[in-house]
Amino acid sequence: MRLFGAMTDERRERVRCHVCGAESEHVVARRATEEGAPDLDTRPPETLRSTMPAWVQRCPSCGYCAPDLAAGAPRAARVVRTAAYRALLADATRPPLANAFLASSAVLEGCAALADAGWQAVYAAWACDDAGDDPAAGECRLRAVALFADALLARQEVAVDPGGADAVIADLLRRAGRFEEAIARVEAVSDRPILKPTRRVLRYVAALAARGDRGAHSSAEAPPLTPAS
Ligand SMILES: [Zn+2]
Repeated sequence: MRLFGAMTDERRERVRCHVCGAESEHVVARRATEEGAPDLDTRPPETLRSTMPAWVQRCPSCGYCAPDLAAGAPRAARVVRTAAYRALLADATRPPLANAFLASSAVLEGCAALADAGWQAVYAAWACDDAGDDPAAGECRLRAVALFADALLARQEVAVDPGGADAVIADLLRRAGRFEEAIARVEAVSDRPILKPTRRVLRYVAALAARGDRGAHSSAEAPPLTPAS
């Protein structure tokens, strides 16, 4: 797999599944670096970018998917045993890595960890991007938008910095082709006190959406703010 090809430093570890107790072996990425700027949706640069398959573990016995198979909320087992969960994991129309992230997202949602569930859906979108599956990537992004909206209503933290959640949500909408909603999201926070780097990203996302650009862009491309802004 291409993503593993660039992984320079990895090791394997045995993990005991939180849901079924079975042990399985998983690749754990170590010492990833970040050279350059992240994408507008926070996707990191290399080498961290290529460690993505190690961000989610799937139990070969019961299908539980999680960032760490050994951990999880008590309710996780209930989600894993549902027919909807099994159908999601078995969906051959999406890349298996995207399914693992979506399954992890479903478990976290079932355990009310809505912000974390949203981020797992974002990672699923990136896995679809890498597989060239644009429709599936769009579905994952809209799932992430919905989960982040619920997370914010539940006062869960989606991003650390003020306006960070809005920047991510606006870019998810833009990448999914929802240009007007992306622009509206940026405009809705234009009067809020937001740090300059985030404000730059927000402006750039809106500008890209205004010209119908759905592509991936680095945050380093965002033009500096003018004195008036
Ligand atoms: Zn298991």
